[in-house]
Amino acid sequence: MSGTRTRTTTYAHAFEDAARIPPAERAALLGGKGAGLVRMTEAGLPVPPGFVLSTAAGLAFLENGEPPPGLRAEVRAQMDRLARRLGRVFGGGPSPLLVSVRSGAAVSMPGMMDTLLNIGLVPAAAAALDARTGDSGYARRSARALAEAHAGLGLGPVSGDPYEQLFTAIDAVFSSWRTERATEYRRLHGLPDEGGTAVTVQAMVLGDLPGPGVSGTGVLFTRDPVTGEPGAVGEFLPDGQGSGLVDGTRTPGPLADLAARAPGVHADLLRHAAALEAMYADMCDIEFTVEDGTLWLLQVRPGKRTDAAAARIALDLVAEGTIDRAEAVRRAGDRTGAVASAAPGTDLGPVLCTGLPASPGIATGRVVFDADAALDMADSGETAVLVREFTEPSDIHGMAAAGAILTATGGRMSHAAVVARELGVPCVCGAAALAFEAGTVRIGGRPLAAGDVVTVDGTGGRVHGPAAAAVTTTPARTAYQERLAEWAGA
Ligand code: ADP
Ligand code: MG
Repeated sequence: MSGTRTRTTTYAHAFEDAARIPPAERAALLGGKGAGLVRMTEAGLPVPPGFVLSTAAGLAFLENGEPPPGLRAEVRAQMDRLARRLGRVFGGGPSPLLVSVRSGAAVSMPGMMDTLLNIGLVPAAAAALDARTGDSGYARRSARALAEAHAGLGLGPVSGDPYEQLFTAIDAVFSSWRTERATEYRRLHGLPDEGGTAVTVQAMVLGDLPGPGVSGTGVLFTRDPVTGEPGAVGEFLPDGQGSGLVDGTRTPGPLADLAARAPGVHADLLRHAAALEAMYADMCDIEFTVEDGTLWLLQVRPGKRTDAAAARIALDLVAEGTIDRAEAVRRAGDRTGAVASAAPGTDLGPVLCTGLPASPGIATGRVVFDADAALDMADSGETAVLVREFTEPSDIHGMAAAGAILTATGGRMSHAAVVARELGVPCVCGAAALAFEAGTVRIGGRPLAAGDVVTVDGTGGRVHGPAAAAVTTTPARTAYQERLAEWAGA
């Protein structure tokens, strides 16, 4: 064709419109997260509305170093529509519209790219929010969190213009495809470097909203991601935003805490979780937030799991008639990694502290406090135990090199826990007796130094000091793994 080329694709897809895209094409176009949000919206589940900027936009951004022509106009049009639909104002009151700007590649890379929350919190919106919450500090705290996020990403001061904020955030999330940690994660998992990320812009729901109604945030797995046992397990952090839970800077309580505070919300959540597991025909990892007693689902994906859990879930799904044997083998036939355990009665040494059993297995090694040191120690042929207040996505290379991981904060759904399980590295997290203060680390009041020998029992959730005799462990597969291996061989 000659003359002016007309663009036949649009970059921005509102969740409700994207239902028109064939399901098989969605993950590549919208990213896994965007596709999940569209699928939940389609199923009538409670999802805050929003829109996805496609991976095509992400690729164009990476190629040119700037947004492709037309993208910003599409974003403005989508924002107008979102504000109208919700009866809110972007950048003002009386009911301010705040949005999150979320990454989402075709293949999930949890926590490896950037997310910015509370976009649109300019002074006029902050004043309106304070009036609404009756808490004069709330908007200030949220704005500070945004400023800290900006600083953390090297973005400079937060603009006073809501669209400037939004465009800066979108560009930053597109760019986060190329951060060192995301690149390292793809290398570790054999994922292609091409592709880029989609960006989801979504109305914020406030899990940290002050007031008498129940608010908070949580994560639910429809089956146990450590053992594969049936039955939902999860965590709930009252009065918090999801970021604190996912990055592991705060240690949540069990899902039972939500049941105690808001039984109706808890029951709805379990109902939605069962529906999603049926839709995906697999164990799902669901992120949710409760704002003033109302439940919102923010993410769904097939949940990351240990090898042992992968085998058990695959076999159970066959027994339940959800998948057939061939599919079970395809999904989990290679999840044969054995878990190390010590013979019953072995002296593991005195218990230094307990925490959450986040990733099973047992390993003895020397304490290191940063990821590079873990890598160096592994290179020298010794086992490193990576001890952190919480892990960050940039620690990924050290986590992969470590023999075990120990964190002071964070639950079983935190970054440290999820990544450790996937890597097959034993992990104890949320060990409250582990204290990082003023450059020193103490464990149960006693100093812990780099080079100290400890044993991390990720199955039992305990950390031991040196034992009288060297601890010997033997790796073993579960009965589920053995059976699946037989099927795979047959
Ligand atoms: P990740 O790549 O780590 O999955 P997410 O895009 O899920 O990042 O964002 C991290 C956290 O931010 C989420 O777990 C969620 O709790 C919070 N968040 C994202 N979008 C929203 C939203 N629209 N409202 C409230 N919280 C949000
Ligand atoms: Mg998430």
